[in-house]
Amino acid sequence: MDHTEFPLAGHVLSLWARVGQTLGVPIPVPESAWSLDTYCDLVDRLTTTNRPLGWFSDTSEGDHLLLRHDVDLDLDLALSHARAVERRSHFATYFFLLRGTTYNLLEDRSVAVVREIAACGHRVGIHVDASLYSPSELSAGVRTEISTFEQIVDVPVDSVSFHRPATHPVDYDALDLPVPHAYERRFFDDIAYVSDSRGRWNARELPDSGSLQLLTHPIWWAGDGPTSGDRLRSLLNRRETSFRNAAQGYLSNFDELTG
Ligand SMILES: [Zn+2]
Repeated sequence: MDHTEFPLAGHVLSLWARVGQTLGVPIPVPESAWSLDTYCDLVDRLTTTNRPLGWFSDTSEGDHLLLRHDVDLDLDLALSHARAVERRSHFATYFFLLRGTTYNLLEDRSVAVVREIAACGHRVGIHVDASLYSPSELSAGVRTEISTFEQIVDVPVDSVSFHRPATHPVDYDALDLPVPHAYERRFFDDIAYVSDSRGRWNARELPDSGSLQLLTHPIWWAGDGPTSGDRLRSLLNRRETSFRNAAQGYLSNFDELTG
């Protein structure tokens, strides 16, 4: 989620507009306007015959709009998001944390959610926490995560995105991976890149031509409430309840605390 503190090694953090691109598609600001509908409306405006939706693993010529969704916090929000995007006949790539601390991908329900998102016509990737690996261990770590994910979920990993990519000085173009990743120069430096990390856009408009990687996080669009803080608060409340229920299932003798 947090991709902005330090420049990535070997990269200058992208400006969203580059020479030769015209500016023109306004982003829904303020955040009170953010919803699944406004997100899909934005995608409608951004897709053109000259810039159709694409995949990170798509090597076809021409400009593409790459919709990237890093699932940092909650699978149910990702599922709501993915269903809404499918209803509007769009497709995207959803990236899941295998070694995160906010949800457990080994749970049966988690596996079912990821499979349902794939069944919606989206593609699935892994969101690798780069801070867990030294630069020299990163490629091997990602390869292990890919094979583990595919073994557990039984859905092919289309591509990779990185969580906390700037923790260590990594040359992301030099990684040796079996699938593409979102910080390759061709997806990050050579094309426009805009994100809503931390619930804030890093741009006020989007280029109306040229390839674009648009990173958005399901919580800010599928969450409840008019502000990013409200959406996070709502998730925290829901997760407290689900944790309480889980604890009660394990510890029936502490009903005064868990009930
Ligand atoms: Zn992340």
